[in-house]
Amino acid sequence: MLALQAYLVLVALLLGSFINLAADRLPRGESVVRPRSHCRSCGRILNVVDLVPVGGYLIRGGRCATCAMRIGPLSPAIEALCGAAMAAAITTLGMGRGAAVGFAVVAVVGVTAITAGFARLRAKPGSPAG
Ligand SMILES: [Zn+2]
Repeated sequence: MLALQAYLVLVALLLGSFINLAADRLPRGESVVRPRSHCRSCGRILNVVDLVPVGGYLIRGGRCATCAMRIGPLSPAIEALCGAAMAAAITTLGMGRGAAVGFAVVAVVGVTAITAGFARLRAKPGSPAG
């Protein structure tokens, strides 16, 4: 039972990671599948360590390991929020209902983050429209 709970929290963390990717790429009209995750500044393809939700950010000290560009604290915050929401939901509501509520919260976080991503891009002066 504990293994399943840990698995659900892991899935929520990975979904949080995917939400960050989607919130970054969709407003720019980029694919969420290709290319592989890379640093926006130097183009280095991110490795396993970089991609660990929350942990990768902490290990790298919030910076790209190659060019030291700052990675905003919003990314690990979104991952942590998704993982924490799932953990809280399944511990308080039990497995079935908790998982459903946990995934619903993750979905809301996803829609909110992606909407904010579009707004952020629109707000930037000089960025190409559409
Ligand atoms: Zn870099």
